[in-house]
Amino acid sequence: ILVEDRGASYVLAKLTEAGYEAYLVGGCVRDAVLDRPIKDIDIATSALPEQVIACFPRTAPTGLQHGTVTVILQQGTYEVTTFRKEAEYEGFRRPASVAYISDLTEDLKRRDFTMNAMAMDGDGVVVDPFAGQKDLALGVLRCVGKAEERFGEDALRMLRCIRFASTYELQVEESTWQALLAQAPLLRHIAMERVRSELQRMIDGPAPARAVRLLLASRLTAHLKKQLPLPFERWLAWDDALDAVSALEGQHDRWAMLLMLLEVPADVIRTALQELTFSRADGDAVWAVLALREAVAATHSDPAPLERVWKLGAVRSGEAAARALLRLLRVLQPYAGQRGELALFLDTAAPELVRRGEAWLSEIPCFSLKHLAISGKDLASELGLQPGPEMGKLLEHLLERTTLGEIPNEREILLQAARAAK
Ligand code: ATP
Ligand code: MG
Repeated sequence: ILVEDRGASYVLAKLTEAGYEAYLVGGCVRDAVLDRPIKDIDIATSALPEQVIACFPRTAPTGLQHGTVTVILQQGTYEVTTFRKEAEYEGFRRPASVAYISDLTEDLKRRDFTMNAMAMDGDGVVVDPFAGQKDLALGVLRCVGKAEERFGEDALRMLRCIRFASTYELQVEESTWQALLAQAPLLRHIAMERVRSELQRMIDGPAPARAVRLLLASRLTAHLKKQLPLPFERWLAWDDALDAVSALEGQHDRWAMLLMLLEVPADVIRTALQELTFSRADGDAVWAVLALREAVAATHSDPAPLERVWKLGAVRSGEAAARALLRLLRVLQPYAGQRGELALFLDTAAPELVRRGEAWLSEIPCFSLKHLAISGKDLASELGLQPGPEMGKLLEHLLERTTLGEIPNEREILLQAARAAK
């Protein structure tokens, strides 16, 4: 096995020539062993940070407190970290202090899973004291050392466990899994940002359904730092539909579908996404889809109001949300069955929307006031209106009428309609 990266080879060679030990470590070795594309390259060395700095013309002290120096080359940047062991863990997350050591095996020992605890030298020789390659060959994810202790030191590892098990399609080794079940309550010590980041990577990964099933089985979601008002166990009732999530591309569609299956009001979802520290943009994109679904669901089967509610809702929630909802419904429709309000929606309004929703969208001349053929300025100059809530309402009224196809989006006609409505 070889990592074909000239920059990395150069860094390893330079450190070795200077008399230090240096290895590729962590995820890049794992991915090389699996013959998967390599993301970031991490290097571990016996050289102390100042010795690393002395070996290269350009470096940045990115993580000196952890012994990490970033080496800057034309080929890219490389994180070089001095062999270390983690002295004490504090607050069930990250060690309170680090101690530099000269032994690679000790450094590998502090790492979370056997597959992440391998190193490779510049000649492609793999150092694998915890049999990570064997576990990978067996398709097994196993903690380095005593799993219960390792999850106790750093509770985030439990979420990493589920992420790796799902994205790499691995079986969690039995004692590792038992330890995870036992230590699950410790997750409450982990900041929601970290939880959210792991969850996003799971759901955005190649096997979101497997991640959801493992999460449910682990009961980790019952032990978040902030209790979320989300009945995650409802996913069990939609178990067959979970597999369809991977048919959706992009995390917004996937989250929208998973959260839709929980069948709680869109506003509750919005608050939960905030508690999970989703960015405003991510949160709103997901929420808008659910809000639109909720608005449309009120109509059930009558196609006449459905068209109206769909068009008005699409303008309110935005074209992106409307198209996302159609993608979700296409994927979800086969899974209706006897499962409450959402299932009823899938049986009634959804087929009509899947059939006609897109055509209805293409009939909408403009999705926002910005694209309306008249503005507040026109209303001021032509009708003598003052800017203010009245004017806002009038513009909304005009947008609604163009949305419903009652009048075209043309300046003269809109002015006429404005005069009539005033
Ligand atoms: P990916 O980048 O795909 O998430 P990775 O294995 O590279 O996978 P990183 O978070 O980049 O994960 O960490 C690099 C390495 O550092 C890991 O391979 C592992 O050896 C070690 N590591 C990271 N986080 C932890 C942790 N919480 N506990 C123990 N070791 C860890
Ligand atoms: Mg990495």
